[in-house]
Amino acid sequence: MIEDSLTQLHTEMRACRRCLDAGHAIMPGAVFRGQADARIMLIGQAPGVTEVAAKRPFNAGSGKRLFQWLGQAGWDETDFRARQYMTAVTKCYPGKGKNGKGDRVPSKAEQALCRPFLEREITLVNPRLIILVGGLAIKLLYPAKLRLNEVVGTAVYFPPETLANPVNFNFQDGQLITAQTNLQSLISNHAAGRFVVPLPHPSGASLWPNKPENKKRIARAIKMLVTVQPPTDF
Ligand code: SF4
Repeated sequence: MIEDSLTQLHTEMRACRRCLDAGHAIMPGAVFRGQADARIMLIGQAPGVTEVAAKRPFNAGSGKRLFQWLGQAGWDETDFRARQYMTAVTKCYPGKGKNGKGDRVPSKAEQALCRPFLEREITLVNPRLIILVGGLAIKLLYPAKLRLNEVVGTAVYFPPETLANPVNFNFQDGQLITAQTNLQSLISNHAAGRFVVPLPHPSGASLWPNKPENKKRIARAIKMLVTVQPPTDF
């Protein structure tokens, strides 16, 4: 039954023209991949042109770097792609940015048009762990004013019973510490009972992951993934 509903959702997403109909310059053809029984959902920003051609999220260089990180957390790329769920804040290619370098960041209007799809994906798949990849995805659950430096290397658990007080995990001196936190979230109603771990965008265009201090933050994020990852024998 769940699979049927997810199949229906996938059909709707593939056929969707909401952004075009609203006058936004996107290339239709939603890119996502995954099964209803996935325990991990990875949410990126939006597909790039190579992802559209291959119909595969994080297909090219960004995928290589992403799966290097996930590999350090113990996940094999082929297995992860086959068993987990990969999607994005907006699911169609937004085209190049104004300066021609990199892809355009989807507008707030486009994000709002696509949000119901994301919320339905989370509800139907019901993942135990959500990995937010890149600033736009991170802003789904973290306050927009927080910088990447402040969130990469932390994790959050949203207890089902106390959504208003999610638990923020952080590593300090190698110890896992917890503290209550108040997250203003765009999708908090869909986060209950889930761990959330943010990662930076793995695009080669981003220099952030190359800085030594940020490499340490990414290492902490990978440690978080190891700590909170769901069992693999599901
Ligand atoms: S980005 Fe989302 S809402 Fe916009 S056309 Fe694609 S699937 Fe539809």
